[in-house]
Amino acid sequence: MLLFIFYLIFYISLYTKEVYLSRTNSEVISLCKTDYKINSENKINDYIEDDVYIKYIYDKLKSSKQTNSQNTNLKPKKNREKIIYLTFDDGPSKLTLDVLKVLNQYDIKATFFVVGNNVKVYPEVIVKLKEHGHAIGLHSYTHNYKHIYANYQNFIDEMIATQTLIYNITQEKVDIIRFPGGSYKRLNKDFYCELKKYNFKIYDWNISSQDGISSQSDEDTILKSATENSSRSNIILLMHCRETDKKTLHVLPKIIEFYKSKGYKFETINQSTPEYIFPFK
Ligand SMILES: [Zn+2]
Repeated sequence: MLLFIFYLIFYISLYTKEVYLSRTNSEVISLCKTDYKINSENKINDYIEDDVYIKYIYDKLKSSKQTNSQNTNLKPKKNREKIIYLTFDDGPSKLTLDVLKVLNQYDIKATFFVVGNNVKVYPEVIVKLKEHGHAIGLHSYTHNYKHIYANYQNFIDEMIATQTLIYNITQEKVDIIRFPGGSYKRLNKDFYCELKKYNFKIYDWNISSQDGISSQSDEDTILKSATENSSRSNIILLMHCRETDKKTLHVLPKIIEFYKSKGYKFETINQSTPEYIFPFK
């Protein structure tokens, strides 16, 4: 019975945004304790029935205001340190080196979720990132949604191929990952547990600079998007460092100065950073 209540509270917590950043490793492990049968035919977008049920329970609890009382221990503590993780996707590219210069000027470390195909072209950028103490994460090999999301195995194979590529450059095994386009509607409980077999830790974001959505985004839009909702105590900010992301580069000092003035500490994502995952669909 107690176990049931624990699971229930935990699943409910999956639907409260800030909770992800305070999730502990033991909670993550407990999610996959049961041996879920993986159906190899399953597409990532397949619907998982019990997730629907959990969502139903959560909605009911939320409307009866029980969620608050049950989740108090999972809510972010007040007055705790404010941390921001700057993350740059889709590199490395030539522009990544310019981003690196800005970060170095401010003596700030960031996390780069890189694409294998680009790592192959710019291995020296990976070396530079490591030299300067930045973190590297996996962001698939091809960034081709159609291929990556055709089945679980394609996704895993691409992450491992990129992991190997980086290992050959840095002699470090990277296991922090980010889903291209984010995990929403792509990750479910079965797939999550499958990824745990490979020790992958998943990081979505809770603020997007919007630089990836449209090439039309001007610098003001990027700055505004990157700095709104800045009342959160933990922020994972999504940005990009492709060749074309010059606007992001130009506005980066303003973003850094904004968060510095608000008292945020800049940290990198590593194995000990609690996962941050969009709610399972
Ligand atoms: Zn991407």
